[in-house]
Amino acid sequence: MRSITTFDLQYAHRFYGFKGEAQYLHGHTGVMTIEVEDTVNEGVNMVFPCNEIRKTAWNVLQNFDHALILREDDPLLPAILGVYEKQGILNGHPQNTMKGPAFKTELATAYPDARLVVTKETMTVEGFIKIVYDLLKDKLNIAKIKFTSGVNAASMEFDTHNNIDRCPLCGISLDDNGVCPKCGYRKPKP
Ligand SMILES: [Zn+2]
Ligand SMILES: [Zn+2]
Repeated sequence: MRSITTFDLQYAHRFYGFKGEAQYLHGHTGVMTIEVEDTVNEGVNMVFPCNEIRKTAWNVLQNFDHALILREDDPLLPAILGVYEKQGILNGHPQNTMKGPAFKTELATAYPDARLVVTKETMTVEGFIKIVYDLLKDKLNIAKIKFTSGVNAASMEFDTHNNIDRCPLCGISLDDNGVCPKCGYRKPKP
């Protein structure tokens, strides 16, 4: 069975070098759906609590929200950095508070202080799914990610490793010692 959560992301990007309107800077409200798979945890009668999926995913994904996403070779990048620097907002601003921790993967680097994500590949809906799976695959047992942005949509299914030990009281994954990091439940020794 699957627990499914959905959230909105507002972002600006462009397809650098693409022969079409999308080569111009523009914005979207994108909708991402993440499906987490496992057996039903009988204690709480759910696969995984959706609010916990949200919390885990949003910690990473808020770096894409109200952000500019540019490919690493896009000449707009140095231009934008120059303007932000001149304006004194490149390295953060007191009102820039909705930030997740900075990250760097093969596919993307987040600069939360500048609300900027630099990507290796063009940030299409397909490209975004690859980036997000890479960021969350070790934190959530993801079976499917779907991303819709304007008239574009893509989805991808992934292999899962089911029967993860979860807390029978609050539903989240137990740590390596069989202890719930949220409520302190301890798995009885066999
Ligand atoms: Zn677009
Ligand atoms: Zn618990």
